[in-house]
Amino acid sequence: MLVIGLTGGIASGKSTVARLLAARGATVIDADKLGHRAYERGRPTFAQVVSAFGEDVVGEDGQIDRKALGGKVFADASELRRLTDIVWPEILALAQDEIVAAKVAGAKVAVLEAAVLLEAGWERAADEVWAVTVPPEVAVARATARDGVDANAVRARIDAQLANGAREAAAHVVIDNAGTPEALAARVEREWRRLGEAA
Ligand code: ADP
Repeated sequence: MLVIGLTGGIASGKSTVARLLAARGATVIDADKLGHRAYERGRPTFAQVVSAFGEDVVGEDGQIDRKALGGKVFADASELRRLTDIVWPEILALAQDEIVAAKVAGAKVAVLEAAVLLEAGWERAADEVWAVTVPPEVAVARATARDGVDANAVRARIDAQLANGAREAAAHVVIDNAGTPEALAARVEREWRRLGEAA
């Protein structure tokens, strides 16, 4: 089985590429979803986060209140680092479990979709890295249309994320998604065929 690490900035088109790959039979593992699972009460991360950041990050429902936690870390790089040092290894462990499960289920290709794939070092779980890129203003336009959020908030997110150049430098496959959805589908199809020919 081949594992693709799929990354890209906000609204670059990661989920769209993941869906195109899923439609061709790949098993998609969404690191965002694993992130939610990692925080659940009872998981090792839960206790570590509470002991590092205080009981006040636990909401009334007994689960970690990600907004409250975010408020404590997002303006402070060293606090954010403290949090990611706890959470990222746990997400990687969950991803590795899913990769094994995909293999056992007979998948030929698994896709680990993660905005922070490279920052977190999760590319070590992948055989190749695919980076989806769009110019920042295209990302702003697509994110505002998709989420109804403020353009400046999106720009701030983009500035806080890895730049396209850094992703391109680390990627085996760069998918430029500045064009149409049809062009994107054709690009993905081309890479998919390459995988089929290699297999
Ligand atoms: P990500 O998962 O990287 O945040 P998405 O795949 O959700 O990005 O894409 C962001 C938005 O842009 C979505 O609304 C998606 O439908 C749209 N989109 C993706 N690719 C294109 C494209 N080539 N042309 C126009 N819209 C696109």
